[in-house]
Amino acid sequence: MKLTIMGPPGGGKGTQAELLEKRLGIVHISTGAIIRKAISDKTPLGLAAEKYIDEGSLVPDDVVISMVKERISQPDCEAGYILDGFPRTIPQAEAMEGMGIDLDCALNIVVEDDAIVERLSGRRECAVCAAPYHVKYNPPKAEGKCDKCGGDLITRADDVPETIRQRLRVYHAQTEPLKRFYEERGLLRTARGCEELSDTTRNVLEALGVRQ
Ligand code: AMP
Repeated sequence: MKLTIMGPPGGGKGTQAELLEKRLGIVHISTGAIIRKAISDKTPLGLAAEKYIDEGSLVPDDVVISMVKERISQPDCEAGYILDGFPRTIPQAEAMEGMGIDLDCALNIVVEDDAIVERLSGRRECAVCAAPYHVKYNPPKAEGKCDKCGGDLITRADDVPETIRQRLRVYHAQTEPLKRFYEERGLLRTARGCEELSDTTRNVLEALGVRQ
């Protein structure tokens, strides 16, 4: 199974993708996490991408497309994958079709803009393994530490109010048109994102037709 999870920044894509990875037994690929790792490793990709992430805009399509192409050619992707944060533009979706990738479904998580700023300001991420948390809605067992690897939890540099607003503008202008793109192909599924993580998960599983 190959699926993509779309939705606004802070809408719960990463968290739901992690849960689905366990539930469906297919890998979770987050383009944002790959880019952040490249930035911290100071690779050429990271150096090219840093300014876009910092200002809340999108990394150029060709950079992200080649990154995804390389990632999905790995053996662990043979059984399928969950794309989190890709495609984020129509050209990216077209490029994926051009590579002969047939998605089984495009899941859109719907969250109103007003809820996003509050969600993102409480969001934390493991500095080591990038697992997502939220101080209120998805807290770690031990404060400030990752449940999975014990790494320190940090606030992402782009989760600050000014950048959040820019990311929302970018989302509406460049990513939202993908809803129509996938609707036309009969692949769009929609799930409402809720305050409680378990409610969102229930909506996601229902939208995907996974038995609960
Ligand atoms: P995310 O972790 O999905 O919220 O992504 C964080 C940031 O990484 C975004 O604001 C973009 O700057 C960049 N990014 C992630 N995925 C993509 C993509 N598919 N296309 C362009 N930029 C991306």
